Amino acid sequence: MSNPLLELSSREFNLIDFSELEDRHYLPAFEAATAAHNAEIAAILAEPSVSFENTLVAMERSGQLLSQLANVVFNKTSSDTNEYLQQVEQKLSPRLTAHLDAISLNPELFARLVELEQKRDAGELELDSESDWLLTKYLQDFRHAGAELGESGRARVAEINEELASLSAEFDKRLLADSNDLAIHLDDAKRLDGLTESELQSLQQAASDRGRKGYTIPLLNYSGHPLLSQLTDRELRQEILQRTLSRGARDNANNTSELVRKMLKLRSEKARLFGYADYPSYATSTQTAKSPERIHAVLRQIAPVAKKNAEAEAAQLNQLLQLERPGATLAAWDWDRYTEQLRARDYDVDTAVLKPYFELRRVLEDGVFFAANQLYGLRFSRRDDIVGYHPDNWIYQVDFEDGENCGLYIFDPYARPSKSGGAWMNNLVDQSRLLNKKPVVVNNMNIPKPASGEPALMTFDEVNTLFHEFGHTLHGLLSDVTYPRFSGTNVERDFVEFPSQVNEMWMLWPEVLANYAIHFETGEKLDPTWIEKILATESFNQGFETTHYLQAAILDLALHETDGDITDLAQFEAAAISDYGLDFAPVPTRYRPNYFAHIFAGGYSAGYYGYIWSEVLDAESVDWFKQNGGLTRENGRRFAEALLSRGGSSDSMGLVREFLGREPEITPLLIRRGLA
Ligand SMILES: [Zn+2]
Repeated sequence: MSNPLLELSSREFNLIDFSELEDRHYLPAFEAATAAHNAEIAAILAEPSVSFENTLVAMERSGQLLSQLANVVFNKTSSDTNEYLQQVEQKLSPRLTAHLDAISLNPELFARLVELEQKRDAGELELDSESDWLLTKYLQDFRHAGAELGESGRARVAEINEELASLSAEFDKRLLADSNDLAIHLDDAKRLDGLTESELQSLQQAASDRGRKGYTIPLLNYSGHPLLSQLTDRELRQEILQRTLSRGARDNANNTSELVRKMLKLRSEKARLFGYADYPSYATSTQTAKSPERIHAVLRQIAPVAKKNAEAEAAQLNQLLQLERPGATLAAWDWDRYTEQLRARDYDVDTAVLKPYFELRRVLEDGVFFAANQLYGLRFSRRDDIVGYHPDNWIYQVDFEDGENCGLYIFDPYARPSKSGGAWMNNLVDQSRLLNKKPVVVNNMNIPKPASGEPALMTFDEVNTLFHEFGHTLHGLLSDVTYPRFSGTNVERDFVEFPSQVNEMWMLWPEVLANYAIHFETGEKLDPTWIEKILATESFNQGFETTHYLQAAILDLALHETDGDITDLAQFEAAAISDYGLDFAPVPTRYRPNYFAHIFAGGYSAGYYGYIWSEVLDAESVDWFKQNGGLTRENGRRFAEALLSRGGSSDSMGLVREFLGREPEITPLLIRRGLA
């Protein structure tokens, strides 16, 4: 069979032929793709005169084979890996980094960009606004990569990046291995009181997937576990949470401590090569936040109120705990269980009761897709004839209301031992007018796969996560830019969560909920009075949520403010968090250094603050939608035109100001989280 990665796909949607793809194809394809890319760059450098067309447009056209390969291989290694692919990733990541650095650090190429900059400054370059912004961003990318450093500095930066890429791939591998090692096996259901029949079946399924009898509780997410709210066995809850919080940290072959220290050390060295005091100062200089001081100022404003609210919540939970276990001390593994009891008692909302109304396919097609149709006019049709990268892919063609094609959407819902934890969006093909490409977007989730013939019922949080991830998908699908550099989610890291967070608002929008929340057995609709009940709980538990998020955001910055010389990571974590006044035993840090994949394997280094940073814009936009009539095609059109379609093709904060008609403010966020 031939290697489908050796040429650019000319198939429908520019999707490669997955039915022909084999694991052994990736490495030879990498050789071919980098050689092709190098030849394209050499051709640019061989042009005697410098023009926007023969330099920047040519660069945007270059490397397509490599992008195709990178999109396919990294999608595969995160959602369906194996030992061989882990080796491939470990070889490929540092080499890809080195290849891209050789371009960003090429002095001749940079000289051409500077020549264009000078021409522009002298008024000799006539560019449309997206092209003008492309020049600005390329100059920034090259300078941020080290193009202005001396020769030895450039060489050292390239070495550091390569080493960081290897360490990240290794971190990823150990984390997945450790998460699988830490799954809990039970011979019978004695300790599983509180779970529903279908949950028990899916734990049996997880066991049989691993070749075992009995029940397996896999560690699904990076923080917490969906079963903690239901299990009545306190010791089992403790074990699940402690295992979740101990990933990568145990004294075993998959310990990540040394990797963490090395990565912090290298990032700190890199920042100093650029003349910055520490890594967060370097990393945030190209983000919308601009400096860590501005981030700390916002986080320190929120932290004390968040902690105070968390303490008040704990006092309420403790009352419920005392009823069941007099004299016990409230612990982190009690939080979810008693929070659910409290929600049921004070708000008459028991989210477990909602589960039969959240059947996966209905939530996706009649909820998520329905909202996208009402707002953006998108239509979705199943394409079972297209072969995806995994048999559990659900594939949909996406069209605009006028019949024009928008792109392709691949949904990969189920957890499996070969998949990383959590949920995410990525592109297999990036939209661009220059290359005449429509977007192909993937969403991955970790929903326990139901036993065969059974429906997949989702938790409240999973439904919310799906709406969130689909917000990223909309950013990718509705992208309407000329240059691939700006396609969809290619925006600042502290901006990228904004559209996805906005999309969460439609989960509970009355018309949307009425359309998807239908009992899987009886076919009856969820009583609409639930919406008000749930909305009344919006600021409920936000002390906990905010505290446990802020701890991780702060830990990320604090770790990166060091030079990696940390003897005891756990001690360091405790000190950093208590410095912010956020230490509170029943609320443990969402991510601990040893399994903080966002910052050690996910590109969010010194960037985890971005979630709350983007939420300021999210809260403002949600208010805007509500004030303008909510779920209407006209509102969707405005949001898509102003933001979703624009990707990174203009200054991000400028787009927001244009959309809102003013500067965004933090007040709507504080109100939403009960912190005002
Ligand atoms: Zn997100």
